[in-house]
Amino acid sequence: MKCFVTLATAAVCLSPAMTGKAASSGSAFYGDAPDAHHPWAIHDQNRPQPKIVTPGTFSSVDQPGKPPSDAIVLFDGTDFSKWESAKDGSAPKWVLADGAMQAAHVGDIRTKEQFGDCQLHVEWAAPKVVEGDSQGRGNSGIFLMGMLEIQVLDSYNNVTYADGHAASVYGVNPPMANALRPPGEFQVYDIVFRRPVYRDNQVVDPGYVTVFVNGVLAQDHTTLEGGTGHMSRSKPGPFPERGPLQLQDHNNPTRFRNIWYRPLPPRAVEGGTDGPLTTEATMAKRKQIAASIREDAALIGADHAVQKMLRLMESLSYEKDEPTVQKIEEMASQYVASVKALPADQIGAKKDEVKRVNSAFQYLAKFKALPPSFGPKVETEKLVKDNGWDKK
Ligand code: MG
Repeated sequence: MKCFVTLATAAVCLSPAMTGKAASSGSAFYGDAPDAHHPWAIHDQNRPQPKIVTPGTFSSVDQPGKPPSDAIVLFDGTDFSKWESAKDGSAPKWVLADGAMQAAHVGDIRTKEQFGDCQLHVEWAAPKVVEGDSQGRGNSGIFLMGMLEIQVLDSYNNVTYADGHAASVYGVNPPMANALRPPGEFQVYDIVFRRPVYRDNQVVDPGYVTVFVNGVLAQDHTTLEGGTGHMSRSKPGPFPERGPLQLQDHNNPTRFRNIWYRPLPPRAVEGGTDGPLTTEATMAKRKQIAASIREDAALIGADHAVQKMLRLMESLSYEKDEPTVQKIEEMASQYVASVKALPADQIGAKKDEVKRVNSAFQYLAKFKALPPSFGPKVETEKLVKDNGWDKK
């Protein structure tokens, strides 16, 4: 097990399975250090752990699955409490029956809640009795933020224009596969949506949509061209930050069930810190991490002086801070002096600890967080050498 002190002051222990080989090093000074575009080191123990989500269950044709633990459920088959008429905000007049809601020739409905980037799960079924053809068969639609239609259509044995098939970005991009089940059976859409981001009317990120239909990839990170429309070519453009999820009533009795979403964390262009970062954002994050580590070090008691010193040294990987360098210099000098003062028969017990401090100094020098000539580094190097601890 690998243990280290966190901001919460509690020791956190990671099993070797969680940390890989790094666990055996027993050191935070391990992978390549933070650089101009990466605020964290490789295999950085200070990087936040991923959020724990309990997965749900998959749906069958007969039975909707269970959403994951952090999903926001928009429709569970029991009521319209999260929905309203898109026309006037009144209560939806769609039909609620057998755990599903059905378009009833009364107009689109939309969620009361507005949201942006998301993982969205929607299940729908075209009418079992086939009527009409092309766009007139089982037509509905899922409008992300009320602006971008992911087509819902009975595309099973139904020829229509390619960019209007089920799971098309309507009028923009056809699905790369038609993986529909027969009409009457529930289809499962899993969508990942990233809205366009503009700043000062300049595109920062055009936005993307990925769609799986019954587990088959239909849209692969498709670049958005603004919203969608009928007959008119869509044009790239900004979206608001949030919008409702809207379901189309195209006068076909399409049914929906099991609708939920999970909001997505911000992208790097919106202040997120995973993914390619600008130097400015990276350095700001590095400063923040360094400050957190220094705060953490301040909580370590004087009876754990080496641990405290190593934690302070760790902070230098992220930000060079002169008062911290001075503190380390002072602590390391005292440490080296205390080791040197030990009787010959006791110094051997310090071997691993001194080597650990020395490795940390070597690491910081390698990644230019400290100069190679830094006094305490030279002294610990010498201590290792003089005691023959550098030999295998
Ligand atoms: Mg439609």
